[in-house]
Amino acid sequence: MSVATALSIAGSDPSGGAGIQADLKAFSARGVYGMAALTALTAQNTTGVSGVHLVPPGFVAQQIAAIFEDIRVDAIKIGMIASAEIAEAVADAIAGFAGPVVLDPVMVAKGGHPLLPEDAVGSLRSRLLPRATLLTPNLPEAAALLGCDVADTRAEMERQVKALLGLGPEAVLLKGGHLGGGASPDLLASGNETIWLEGPRVPTANTHGTGCTLSSALAAELAKRRELPEAAVTVKAWLTGAIAGADDLDVGHGHGPTHH
Ligand code: PLP
Repeated sequence: MSVATALSIAGSDPSGGAGIQADLKAFSARGVYGMAALTALTAQNTTGVSGVHLVPPGFVAQQIAAIFEDIRVDAIKIGMIASAEIAEAVADAIAGFAGPVVLDPVMVAKGGHPLLPEDAVGSLRSRLLPRATLLTPNLPEAAALLGCDVADTRAEMERQVKALLGLGPEAVLLKGGHLGGGASPDLLASGNETIWLEGPRVPTANTHGTGCTLSSALAAELAKRRELPEAAVTVKAWLTGAIAGADDLDVGHGHGPTHH
């Protein structure tokens, strides 16, 4: 069998820790041929985002069409979609795609810079959530999608993961890294099944791009036809190692990237 392929539809982080740069590194690390269609350019480094420049929605669609015209795509990861118009363009461009789609509903960068305007949350919810094989929100993103408070208990995470499934994705991996305490539990839900994926909280400030890296690695595993929840268990352990290795890097003066 030939090498599996994955396409990231996401924004650029020139500092290399998040966005399509992180996605392509994760695809390679997980043994998949990576491709990327850009939705936005950011100017940023490990200390924050200083600017965002959107790609015209028609050109986002043109990039995706160029790939589909020529290349077999085994899985798609969608990251920063930047505007309601780009969300619509992406939804239309991938309408004929029958493979797995991992959707990371990127909203705010770690430094607090918004990466998705509030008026685009509705388009993300109505056009892209129903297309997702797997949705990977953190707790603040889940709260924004549901219009409720950020979960602060495991019981509330269990309630929210079911509410998110009600919005249309086939499966949801609700990331509990914001829960606090010494653990970082994630909750995977599909159909009637929910599974807690336990993991330690790794004490480091270097977690830039962890969401991008996780969702891309999951897309890579699905591209290789690995099944959930096995893929999620494998990727969580791999990412925990990458966060633990982050302090070996000496990249920037703020929230540095993970190292895998
Ligand atoms: N920049 C881009 C282009 C992204 O896609 C993301 C993804 O979440 C971020 C920045 C945010 O990275 P972080 O919040 O991990 O710093």
